Amino acid sequence: MDDNNKCPKCGSALGEVVTTKSGKRLQRCSAGSWNEGKVEGCDYVKWLPFEPQALDEKCPKCGAPLMLNVTRFGKRMKKCSTNRWDPQTKTASGCDYIEWIKATTENLDEDCPKCGSKLVMVTTSAGKRFKKCSTNQWDRENKTATGCDYIEWQK
Ligand SMILES: [Zn+2]
Ligand SMILES: [Zn+2]
Ligand SMILES: [Zn+2]
Repeated sequence: MDDNNKCPKCGSALGEVVTTKSGKRLQRCSAGSWNEGKVEGCDYVKWLPFEPQALDEKCPKCGAPLMLNVTRFGKRMKKCSTNRWDPQTKTASGCDYIEWIKATTENLDEDCPKCGSKLVMVTTSAGKRFKKCSTNQWDRENKTATGCDYIEWQK
């Protein structure tokens, strides 16, 4: 068996690659069974590096395709595909274009169970999603939220 696919704790085979909601990839030890956050048996988890995804968008600086990348802290960014990190010389080469992904909001055709207004789907910069009431707004001047406070986190 390939050592990369073996649990370093107990020597069993690792399970299938699983992708979490935030785009992280992991493999669990096949000798453990995971039930709603609790483990029976071996609890070894191997985290796999995030693989950048090619996007259907061009870099505004050089015209090369952009890649979607996720930092260790779960923040999402678009990066120029010509940008390379050389671990030997510790320098980056290629185009240095980076665009951090901010929260996005889409309108939903669903009514708020609290007040009957429409709901919107919000995706945060870390890729978390929740539905909130469209009447809910952030008042920058008074630093308070106004409107209906209905919120529903997506699993
Ligand atoms: Zn194991
Ligand atoms: Zn570029
Ligand atoms: Zn509402």
